[in-house]
Amino acid sequence: MNARAQGVILSRMRKFDLLVAGGGSGGLAAAQRAAEHGARVALIESGRLGGTCVNRGCVPKKIMWHAAELARQLADSREYGFRLSIEGHDWAGLVERRERYIRRLNGIYAENLKRRGVEYVSGHAAFSGPRALAVNGEEYVAPRVLVVTGGEPVVPEIPGADLGGTSDGFFELDSLPRRAAVVGAGYIAVELAGILRGLGSEVTLHLRRASVLRSFDELLQKACLDGLADAGVRIVTDFVPAAVDQDPDGLRLAASSGARTGPFDALLWAVGRRPLVRGLDLGAAGVSCGARGAIEVDEWQQTTAPGVFALGDVTGNHELTPVAIAAGRRWADRQFGAMAERKMDYKNIPTVIFAHPPLGSVGLSEEEARAAHGDSVRCYRSEFVPLYYGIASHKPRARMKLVTVGEEERVAGCHLAGPGADEMLQGFAVAVRMGARKADLDDTVAIHPTAAEELVTMR
Ligand code: FAD
Ligand code: NDP
Repeated sequence: MNARAQGVILSRMRKFDLLVAGGGSGGLAAAQRAAEHGARVALIESGRLGGTCVNRGCVPKKIMWHAAELARQLADSREYGFRLSIEGHDWAGLVERRERYIRRLNGIYAENLKRRGVEYVSGHAAFSGPRALAVNGEEYVAPRVLVVTGGEPVVPEIPGADLGGTSDGFFELDSLPRRAAVVGAGYIAVELAGILRGLGSEVTLHLRRASVLRSFDELLQKACLDGLADAGVRIVTDFVPAAVDQDPDGLRLAASSGARTGPFDALLWAVGRRPLVRGLDLGAAGVSCGARGAIEVDEWQQTTAPGVFALGDVTGNHELTPVAIAAGRRWADRQFGAMAERKMDYKNIPTVIFAHPPLGSVGLSEEEARAAHGDSVRCYRSEFVPLYYGIASHKPRARMKLVTVGEEERVAGCHLAGPGADEMLQGFAVAVRMGARKADLDDTVAIHPTAAEELVTMR
């Protein structure tokens, strides 16, 4: 029931051109762009500015990933002639520096809003009417309301599930768990398993099927599984979690097949995220959600209620920070900048999984291309030991695949696994978006010696 219907007296009414519920990636981007176009904007955030990405997602995750990569490089350093003695790893020290950096970002976001004249309201927003939000006992109204409230991690509904944590809990760990269980097979599962292992945990990754990252090209799935195994992550397949219990030795997981694993000191659920609409009172505005609980929007981010729009994770479409930012800026350009045709194009979105090594992907997987274009698909593959490992005794391989379509061999997909794949992909994503042909890549002079040159020399 909304605030008005509950009889809550809203003390005063404040009028704006735009209300933004949620101060994460999408909300900040849309609010600031709208203000740059001259709109009077109020942005309401119930937690910390920056949202998931800055506070418990991309940013702290990438710092932890760098720490794990550094641990690998320290292990390699001997073969590069260094004689180092390492006295262990200061987890608490790393977490403290990470959190200090994030606090600084929180402050920078608040400053940026102020500089652009966006009114920042700290509190929980709930609809009190069609284009009205109740926050801290006050009512905010505007002709346009943008809902950008993000998502939250899912925890399976099985006995003992609350003995485990989620990615949110991972960022609150005050020490490295000696024995960690990770459940899931998507981005978060493989990223957290890799970080924990890199920093020294014994990690068991539980997959309910046989592979990881199942929506990605098989080359990336295989590279990811090999990378995890190579790092010493124990992988348990066909494990559908059914219960968790705690005994004096630690946490134990039971599968529906009867299989058991454990004991563990920490358990992390990474089984997906769901749109966060709890407490928003969408009904008061006439906003509908679809089957997976995501707010339904059309290609213009319009919800089922006039004047109410939504974008980012709460719409369940490509849950990535740059997608929320791009959708937010385009929406604001259209609504307040008179750019009538600006809208988000959800095709060819590049993405990186920060595993060890990192994995990058843009466009169609080979399987998707063959389903859509049949025999006109031609793929080019490369597998090699990067020069970095040339002098090392341990020689993990990098892998790359280009998926081309038609006689012209338009590059429809580019999939990379290996050191530097995370930084390499962005430029190739531009080429794919511009409709590059395989011949265009071949005509580009290589940069030597790099791993990226493989992509312009494939035969
Ligand atoms: P959010 O950033 O989640 O922002 C929503 C905001 O709304 C939150 O701050 C929340 O507090 C607020 N809110 C919710 N309800 C209300 C309410 N009723 N009133 C007021 N405020 C409210 N993406 C990448 O591109 N690269 C990565 O490397 C990456 N790593 C990730 C790692 C992890 C562990 C996780 C969990 C996610 C990661 N993501 C990554 C995904 C990325 O964080 C999200 O796609 C992105 O943050 C979505 O932005 P958003 O604006 O839609 O939502
Ligand atoms: P994903 O959707 O990527 O993966 C969820 C995984 O959970 C699937 O692999 C699925 O396995 C598994 N799963 C679902 N239910 C169960 C269950 N009951 N038991 C066991 N396994 C189960 O979700 P994440 O939570 O990893 O990430 C959410 C989103 O956040 C991502 O899709 C991505 O958009 C974004 N993100 C992006 C990052 C980046 O850009 N680097 C990093 C982290 C998150 P199955 O294979 O069997 O379906």
